[in-house]
Amino acid sequence: MTTTDAFYHAIAQRLTERRRQLEAELEHFETWNMARLGYGHALVDDAGAAFDQATQLALRRHTERLLAQVDEALARLEAGTYGICEQCGQTIAVERLEAVIDARLCVRCQRQQDGAATDRPRPLPTFRRTGAAPAPA
Ligand SMILES: [Zn+2]
Repeated sequence: MTTTDAFYHAIAQRLTERRRQLEAELEHFETWNMARLGYGHALVDDAGAAFDQATQLALRRHTERLLAQVDEALARLEAGTYGICEQCGQTIAVERLEAVIDARLCVRCQRQQDGAATDRPRPLPTFRRTGAAPAPA
């Protein structure tokens, strides 16, 4: 086994492990929703409950997106295109792949995209209550 093989093998293992974790998190959301449907509905204020639900939904979407990214990375690994920048076709630095395991762009292209795009996906969803005054401090 060459160093490269060992590297990709380790990446595949990490991706598979990450996939398992994300799936477990999604299952956790299911459980949470089931519990919420059955209990104490009349006791919580509706706005708070709706906000919780929106938060959960946003987090869930975020987790689903992460899972999709992991799946895509696994597919690229399978196809032999993993670690190749989708924009310029250069090899993505190993250090970057170690840090961002599902990176699709090299550092240079990522910086360019981050600088240019205004609607790039954020690392974490932000939550905003609409139609309600900000909570008193
Ligand atoms: Zn690039």
